[in-house]
Amino acid sequence: SEAYQEYVRKTPKSKQFAEEARKVMPGGVTANIKAFDPYPIVMQRGNGAYLYDLDGNEYIDYLLSYGALMLGHGHPAIKQAIQTQMEQEGTFLFGTPHRLEVEMGRKIQSLYPSMEMIRYTNSGTEATLLAIRMAYAYTGKHKIAKFEGHYHGGYDQVLLSVNPTLSEAGPAHAPKSLIESKGVDPYHAEHTVILPFNNLEAVADILRQRKDEIAAVMMEPIQGGFIPADRAFMTGLRKLTEELGILLIFDEVKTGFRLGLGGAQSIFQVKPDLTTLGKVVGGGFPVGIIGGKKDILMQSAPTSSSDVFDSSQSHKSSAKDVLFHSGTYNGHPTILAAGLATIEVLEKEIDHVLAVTEQLKEGIRKLFAKYGIAMQTVGMGSIFNVVITEEEEISNYRDLQKSNFALRKELDYYLLASGIYTKPLNRYSMATVHGAKEVERTLEAYEGALSKLI
Ligand code: PLP
Repeated sequence: SEAYQEYVRKTPKSKQFAEEARKVMPGGVTANIKAFDPYPIVMQRGNGAYLYDLDGNEYIDYLLSYGALMLGHGHPAIKQAIQTQMEQEGTFLFGTPHRLEVEMGRKIQSLYPSMEMIRYTNSGTEATLLAIRMAYAYTGKHKIAKFEGHYHGGYDQVLLSVNPTLSEAGPAHAPKSLIESKGVDPYHAEHTVILPFNNLEAVADILRQRKDEIAAVMMEPIQGGFIPADRAFMTGLRKLTEELGILLIFDEVKTGFRLGLGGAQSIFQVKPDLTTLGKVVGGGFPVGIIGGKKDILMQSAPTSSSDVFDSSQSHKSSAKDVLFHSGTYNGHPTILAAGLATIEVLEKEIDHVLAVTEQLKEGIRKLFAKYGIAMQTVGMGSIFNVVITEEEEISNYRDLQKSNFALRKELDYYLLASGIYTKPLNRYSMATVHGAKEVERTLEAYEGALSKLI
């Protein structure tokens, strides 16, 4: 298509780079989602709201590393915090408890009152993985239920029915558990229960039937960061899980700090048993946090006898009573310094981000209306998606599949060629560094693209 050709014409160095990269990494990428046709743009430099590619093209960044960068690129407050931590404390890593773990912990406790205690991990993936172990240990049950279309990381227990082919996915009220990667142990497809999002009646049926097996329901309160749970659904699900002795886990890796500082749970006023955080709270560095009810977290409190190197029999039995959690880099000081600096800036500037998001959404909607294309901006807080659809409501994965992905893709390639960056079909994440100027430039690019598409 013409849009595609424009993309290729503007990015010859990315094309050349892709050929080299493919000799080193499968597909030329080190995370499968980073690949797209015909080759991904290769960035060289970032600054504030902007990214610059190998060919010197400038882009307004709305991907923001899949939502991780809420202060944009290279924010001075983060640079300063990192430098201060390293210079004053003289190390990147203590390998002991340290002040920033407690400082960040207190911050999290105050912003997320449901997170009575916390533990750090190195990624969102590890946080959800640990949440599952904690739920199993706490309930004595060993199955997890997740929603169709929800992503919680790339491991076997949850990489199921995230992006299923609808012809294979079973009925809407009882979705099948489908494996989405080679190498996933089929055991997990049988043992992870898939639920339909925003359908309380169907969820209640499944959970009631399988309450003796299911330890926890894990969910993205906002699917993919942009399709919100219906409020009645959310409160109904909280009530139901409580009634059935099933834990409720909010995976707020994407929504944490992005809907408001207190995440989806503060907006919905629903208290999950466990919460996972990541992305924004690392300020651009790898991090995960799991927190929740004290009783659940305290399962991982070590006893003097849980030393892994002490294998005498009497000690071993008590080690088994403790939930094992470890990690060389957990609670990394430099990263927590970056995260705390991020939160400090957001405390002052989040309202700006939310307001600019609304301006951009409104501008985009108006332009589509002008060109007579039915669409919706779907999302809450500082993330949204542009969904080209005739549907009135987008409330789950299957609704989204009815949208016009082909047209959206065309649009995205035009936008890329005119300096608006998000991966084709991806959602938009906003940052403190987006302002009136960026909105104006983005809408100009949209106008140019839409006029070519019509
Ligand atoms: N959970 C959600 C909701 C996510 O969006 C992601 C990442 O996109 C993850 C978990 C996994 O986090 P990470 O990529 O840090 O392992």
